[in-house]
Amino acid sequence: MKIVLLGATGSIGMSACNCIRRFPEKFEAVGLSSYNNAGKLMELVREFRPVSVCIGNSRASAQALAEIPSTIKIFTGQKGLEDMVNEADFDVLLNAIVGAAGLRATVAALKRNKRVALANKESLVIGGEYIYGLINRGFGEIIPVDSEHSAILQCLSGENKAGVESIILTASGGPFRETDKEKLKNITPEQALDHPTWSMGKKITIDSATLMNKGFEVIEAHHLFGMPYDKIRVLIHPQSIIHSMVEYFDGAVMAQMGVPDMELPIQFALTYPDRLPIQSRRLDLAKTGALTFFEADYNRFPCLKLCLDAGRKGGTSPAIVNAANEMAVQLFLTGRIRYDQIAEIIEDSLGLHASVPVDSLETIENIDSIIRTKIMKRFG
Ligand code: NAD
Ligand code: MG
Repeated sequence: MKIVLLGATGSIGMSACNCIRRFPEKFEAVGLSSYNNAGKLMELVREFRPVSVCIGNSRASAQALAEIPSTIKIFTGQKGLEDMVNEADFDVLLNAIVGAAGLRATVAALKRNKRVALANKESLVIGGEYIYGLINRGFGEIIPVDSEHSAILQCLSGENKAGVESIILTASGGPFRETDKEKLKNITPEQALDHPTWSMGKKITIDSATLMNKGFEVIEAHHLFGMPYDKIRVLIHPQSIIHSMVEYFDGAVMAQMGVPDMELPIQFALTYPDRLPIQSRRLDLAKTGALTFFEADYNRFPCLKLCLDAGRKGGTSPAIVNAANEMAVQLFLTGRIRYDQIAEIIEDSLGLHASVPVDSLETIENIDSIIRTKIMKRFG
C-alpha cells in the first residue's frame, strides 16, 4: 500500500511512521510532508526514501531542500501540498496536518477517488458539508483516525445502521475536569498542556482542555456517520479506556476499549476492514480498576457549547469557530491572552459573522481568512 503521509513530523505522523515500520512489506511511504522542522523531515526522508516530499514553510527549508537527493520530487508551500496529492501515485492519504491547512489535501485526494485516513479533523469541521457532497457523489472515502470515531466505526461493523439509536462520544474531560470556573481564568499554557491520559500535539491538547476538541468531534461524527446532532451524546470518561460507544434501538450498547494509544486507530484506518497485529501495551482491566462516567458541564466548558451550536447551525459557522479557535489557541500559547479569553474570542467572532451556505472551498477559505485577520489586528 502506497501512503502519502502529511504532517509526518507531528504526534500522529510519528505514530504513523511506527505503523509503516512495523510492516515494511505492506506499507510504503511514497510522500511525506511537514511545515517546519525540516531536520526531522530529512531524517524520515533518509529512512523511507519517498518519491516526493513537501515542506510547508518554504522560507524555513532552504538548507534542507538542498540536502534532498535529486531523485526525490520536492514541493513547497501550501499549494505544494495539494500539488503533491494531485500528482503522486498512491493508495491512501494519511492526513495528519493540524488545522484548516489540511482541508485542500483531503479534498484533492477524494477527488482522485482515494481513501483518506483522516486525523486532520478540522477538514471535516470546516468542510464537512462540501466533503460529503463529494463522497455522496461517489468520490473517495474517509476512514477516521480519531480514536473516538475509529471506535464508533468498529462498534458499527457488521450491524445494520438503521438500528442505531445514538452515538456516545467519550471524553477524558482534560486536566480541568474538576477545576472551578473562577480558577479557569488563570490557567497557564503549561497547566493546559499537561493532559492526563493522551500525549498529543500542542493545539489539540489545548482543544482537549477547553473541550473544543469534543465539540469538533461531534461535528466530525455527524458527517462521518450521517447522524443527526440530537443523536450524538458526549460523556466524560476520565480513564480514556472506552474510546466511544454505539447504542442500538434494542438497548444494546457496543463499546470499543483499549489503552490510549493512537497506533491502533491509525493502522486500522489504513487496513480497514482488516486488522494487522500490534504487540504493544495491552488492556488489563483488572489493573485498570474502576471506569467512571459523568455528564459534560457546558457551563464550565463554554467552547463545547459554542462549537455544538455552530455545528447545528451548519454552513460557515463551524469554519468561524475553527478559525477563531486556531488563532485564540495560538495567542494563548504565546502568552498574549488569558485562558478564558479563548471562548470569548470565539463567541465574539460568531456574533460578528452570519453563517452562509458552504458552496465552495473558497467560501470556507474566505471566512477563515477574514476571521484570522480581524483577531490578529486586535490581539497580534
Ligand atoms: P502536531 O502539531 O504534533 O503535528 C502537526 C503536523 O502538521 C506537523 O508535521 C506539522 O509540521 C504539520 N503542520 C502544521 N501546520 C501546518 C500547515 N500550516 N501546513 C502544513 N502542515 C502543517 O499535531 P498532532 O497532534 O499530530 O495532530 C494532527 C491532527 O490529528 C490534528 O488535526 C489533530 O486534531 C488530529 N488528532 C491528533 C491526535 C493525537 O493523538 N495527536 C488524536 C486525534 C486526532
Ligand atoms: Mg479524539
